[in-house]
Amino acid sequence: MSFTVPSAAKGSHEWRAGVKALGSPAWPLCNLAIMLFMAGPYRDLNELLKDLPDEIEMESVCYPSARALLSRYIDLLTPFESYKPEGPVDIHPGNVPPEVEDSEGNPLDPMEAARAWIKQKVLERELERINSLLCGPCQCILCCIGPEVDARQFFFEIPLSPAEVPLFDIPVRSTKQTRASSPEDEPPLRIHGTPFYLSQPAIYEWQKGWSMILTREARCPNLTQQGSCAIYGDRPLTCRRPQVFPFIVECRNDKNLTNLSFRDTILAVWDCPYVRTLKAEIIKYAHLCEADIIFRENKA
Ligand code: SF4
Ligand code: SF4
Repeated sequence: MSFTVPSAAKGSHEWRAGVKALGSPAWPLCNLAIMLFMAGPYRDLNELLKDLPDEIEMESVCYPSARALLSRYIDLLTPFESYKPEGPVDIHPGNVPPEVEDSEGNPLDPMEAARAWIKQKVLERELERINSLLCGPCQCILCCIGPEVDARQFFFEIPLSPAEVPLFDIPVRSTKQTRASSPEDEPPLRIHGTPFYLSQPAIYEWQKGWSMILTREARCPNLTQQGSCAIYGDRPLTCRRPQVFPFIVECRNDKNLTNLSFRDTILAVWDCPYVRTLKAEIIKYAHLCEADIIFRENKA
């Protein structure tokens, strides 16, 4: 099933706001703020924020409301306050940037690791917002259904946190066998003698954590006949995530958030109609964020 962006969508307020946000990413401003903060006489980032002009132009992008844009992300930059001699001695445990390795497995300098970690967080937050703006007008349900009957893949996986599992009225499989397996195993986990992905859609507890498996032609139990999400306000984190993902740092162990490596890459899923329509804008977004861009098909 291939979705295209309806022409009426492009005139909507949400679509235009999403495209505008792609053209003026927050990361260059955040990076500028980090540099000014580290070099300037500021005790905290809010002091810097007050000092910034409303309009800033950089790299051919004009930010007419730079302060307002930056204020959406300033809380993510606070780890840098602890790098100043006059900064806070204690830093909230949730704000301590983890260690990050380069592509050869060598640890990055702590400040560079912090910058990479913060860049990941800024892009995650911004792209989630952009996704919400662009996805709605597309009237597309591709993220909520399994692969087509003749697709290369047998299933579509939606990772879940333990707290999100009860949101779905669907069988839950959590056994010693599932907890010792992963969806990619060859041979695959078998349920009643057949590969799990030929069984009915279900939620599994795998070795790496929970996920919902949508088998070929299956629909998420929360997808209404009208094509909307019945739990939209409470939908899981994965469903809020965009089809343009930041991989500035990649976590090689999802469960424990350890083994981070620096990738500085953005991945855009080509199946998504707004990704195909806005290819040039997404390339420019990545360029302005000084990240590489990869387009890849997910369901084929
Ligand atoms: S929970 Fe909602 S958004 Fe997520 S897959 Fe199901 S219908 Fe789609
Ligand atoms: S994020 Fe893209 S692929 Fe997923 S439902 Fe929205 S428009 Fe479709």
